[in-house]
Amino acid sequence: MPVARPIQAGLVLAFLVTTPAGMSERSGEMRGGDLNAIAEEYVKLVLAVGQHDPDYVDAYYGPPEWRPAKDAVPPPLGMLRERSAALSKRLASAPAQEEMLLRREHLAKQLGALDARLRFLGGERLTFDEESRALYDAVAPVHPASHFDEALAALDRRLPGTGPVPARYERYRAQFVIPKDRLDRVFAAAIEGCRARTRAHVTLPADERFTLEYVTGKPWSGYNWYQGGSVSVIQINTDLPIYIDRAIDLACHEGYPGHHVYNALLEEHLVRRRGWVEFTVYPLFSPQSLIAEGTANFGVDVAFPRSERAAFEREHLFPSAGLDASNAAAYHEVQMLVDRLKYADNEAARGFLDGGWSRDEAIAWLQKYALMRRDRAEQRVRFIERYRSYVINYNLGEDLVRAHVEARGGTADHPEKRWEEFVALLSSPRLPSGLSGASPR
Ligand SMILES: [Zn+2]
Repeated sequence: MPVARPIQAGLVLAFLVTTPAGMSERSGEMRGGDLNAIAEEYVKLVLAVGQHDPDYVDAYYGPPEWRPAKDAVPPPLGMLRERSAALSKRLASAPAQEEMLLRREHLAKQLGALDARLRFLGGERLTFDEESRALYDAVAPVHPASHFDEALAALDRRLPGTGPVPARYERYRAQFVIPKDRLDRVFAAAIEGCRARTRAHVTLPADERFTLEYVTGKPWSGYNWYQGGSVSVIQINTDLPIYIDRAIDLACHEGYPGHHVYNALLEEHLVRRRGWVEFTVYPLFSPQSLIAEGTANFGVDVAFPRSERAAFEREHLFPSAGLDASNAAAYHEVQMLVDRLKYADNEAARGFLDGGWSRDEAIAWLQKYALMRRDRAEQRVRFIERYRSYVINYNLGEDLVRAHVEARGGTADHPEKRWEEFVALLSSPRLPSGLSGASPR
């Protein structure tokens, strides 16, 4: 096991630097140095968990020699749990002051989540809420069917035709599908709009860029694969029809000011400037994902306040897609009502993973309350099976991030402050339980 030797070396180093005598007189650099040694072990541990779990390491751009060889035998799960426990213990006794406290807290939570994922890989199952607390440092509120029934009643009044809302919504929405041969030009226009709005408020690394790929056969609709060096690969899944409103959603969420910007700012501020090596690895099943998905979703509203978004879609995206722009405002209003159903996804996951729902019951719930076509609901259940309580990171994450930014004065009528607080969050090691105003709307 090629990872064993550096770990031993790290432990020896830890004994040297955590000797308490005279520590209080040492410089902040020394204390940072102590956390640096722990951070290095943490990165290697995350990479080792990735040997068991192909979904776990979402991004890594640290030293290539820390990455286990492709054919290396993974260390046993029990050994990784021991390493995780030992590292948590070292971290608890590591001295840290001021901003280093935030760094230490971040490492502690990330390690706690790593241990929870190890237990999962070992066959242990938590309830939906226990799992989301252990992995994402947050628990999503429960919404009864009546909550969604109210939103459906509003749509019932708004949508043309008669009969069940899901079928009427599907018929109505069919006129807003982006033709496949126009996808690229629509996404190019959406990305340009998101990038321009973001660049007006955020200093991005000069060399930042990404490539866009269209893929099929995935359980998600889009994915950002961060490569390091301010570079992303963004993939859009074209298995199912892509509606015109998804262009801005995906361009902002995966690109500007979402995942691409988040990763580039973490690299610039925390890795390049401070040498915090733990940010060169991104374990997917960790509290960082709530911040990542929450900022990516909330970022849509930051870049495109409601009225600006409607105007941009009407003036730029509908024409690019060859769609009738006279329907844009009405469609936008319907989407606002549909947004009230966003927590339906969590209930499907909770019921399916935790409440004894069959696959068909989960699919039926998503068709009724998330207004998904049958094929999209099937895709979503595959997502839930694979990523489990990760689903809370989108809706609860968005609400927690919004509450945090607004509690600090970044309300919709103070756009400059809104950007400032949003960017501060994107550039910091803050975690879900450390967000301001952490009660969801
Ligand atoms: Zn995302």
